[in-house]
Amino acid sequence: MRALRRRESLSQVQLAEKLGVSPSYLNLIENNRRPLPANLLIKLAQIFAVDVHAFATDEDTRLVADLTEAFADPLFDERDLTSVDVREMAAASPVAARAVLSLYRAYQAARATSDDLSSRLSEGEELSGVDAAPDNGATLGSSHLPSEEVSDFIQRQLNHFPELEAAAEELGARAKLTTDDLYSGLVRFIESEFGVRVQIARWGSERGVLRRFDPDKKELVLSELLPTRSRTFQLAHQIGLMTQGHTMDRLALDPRFTSDESRALARVALANYYAGAVIMPYERFLQAAKEERYDIDVLGRRFRVGFEQVCHRLTTLRRPGAEGVPFHMIRIDVAGNISKRFSASGIRFARFSGACPRWNIFSAFLTPGMIRIQNSRMPDGVTYFCIARTIQKDAGGYHAQHPVQAIGLGCQVQFARELVYSDGIDLENPDTCVPVGVTCRLCERTDCLQRALPSIKVPLRVNENLRGVSLYAPVGNGKSRQV
Ligand code: SF4
Repeated sequence: MRALRRRESLSQVQLAEKLGVSPSYLNLIENNRRPLPANLLIKLAQIFAVDVHAFATDEDTRLVADLTEAFADPLFDERDLTSVDVREMAAASPVAARAVLSLYRAYQAARATSDDLSSRLSEGEELSGVDAAPDNGATLGSSHLPSEEVSDFIQRQLNHFPELEAAAEELGARAKLTTDDLYSGLVRFIESEFGVRVQIARWGSERGVLRRFDPDKKELVLSELLPTRSRTFQLAHQIGLMTQGHTMDRLALDPRFTSDESRALARVALANYYAGAVIMPYERFLQAAKEERYDIDVLGRRFRVGFEQVCHRLTTLRRPGAEGVPFHMIRIDVAGNISKRFSASGIRFARFSGACPRWNIFSAFLTPGMIRIQNSRMPDGVTYFCIARTIQKDAGGYHAQHPVQAIGLGCQVQFARELVYSDGIDLENPDTCVPVGVTCRLCERTDCLQRALPSIKVPLRVNENLRGVSLYAPVGNGKSRQV
């Protein structure tokens, strides 16, 4: 409720007035200290023009899922926790449940730190300097990664920021921006409004710097290695910081941020959001996406942006009454590290353990640059339609690193026909569906050759005289545990 209220820039007093309740009562509900009565739920769904189910359960569902994943840790094996216990805990006190998750994250971070220290000790490495490292939330000993907090913040806001959308549209109208002349239009705007000159720097002069703004000299330096679309993006990002700084500061005041680093990273994410909204204005982009059936390459050419930028923009199309397909998006590297995740499709991403290797995003690394398509089914029966492709960063010379990552974009299968990528695919045929899971510890599949860890739902029984399809797959009657 809080996320939607903020999205519409309503104060608690304003929303309370619309609902016919007192602001203090509304405040108690927002802080989970009073339950949300059904009549208010319906009124809220009408005010925000959202479906009641999606409105009521998104964050609760994620909380239960995160708790279930945390309790899948072997640490809790002796406790016989059931899924009912987990749900009751989340329902009785979401605040306490989130505190348990924070504690679990702290435990994980401490464990990672001690593993790291022991391996360095065993390798005979000098440890001087570790104690001196500042505990700033991003170093050894941290319990809250700023990147995780920002991902959670974006998820809570449903990856849609109406104020930044409006500001981007206002800039487009005021500076008379067109896609064909966007870079020059932004250069003219920043010069005429702020007296800032844009310089293109030779690579050798400031090695490693892609964008640098000097407010005293009123100079914005962009690297010559940036392709034009990236220069446009960086320019729009800087204009966002200069014109929407107050809005970003306010949004970054979210009380769940635990460090200045998280708030600073949130500002960067918001400035990126603004830049995306300037380059791909909401209405024009949504219309093009629907007309072209979400063909990412066509949209990329039309708006002069890259594959990842289009995918990211597609996930932000959540304006009430003018929504696109509810997508999820994930970005990973070859080691499986997730550096970007957002889900409006309802799919869950593993947070504390490795993801399911059967997702097509991993096989995308086998065919760089090619779009891989997958119809996949989760153990709960929900089917998703996903595309995945690798991308390669190309800012740098011959000696530069060119890291490869993969982007996954997907939706629930009932939206798949709206996507050009579903052409020729028999979505109704269950044989085309790849059985997947969220993460092996939570997945009860017993016939998976790629299982990496035993499931908490099926007891591990080792029989040295018998071998199933995988070491951890039970043979015969694998009796399920209750979790
Ligand atoms: S056991 Fe489940 S989560 Fe693990 S690889 Fe197989 S399908 Fe994926």
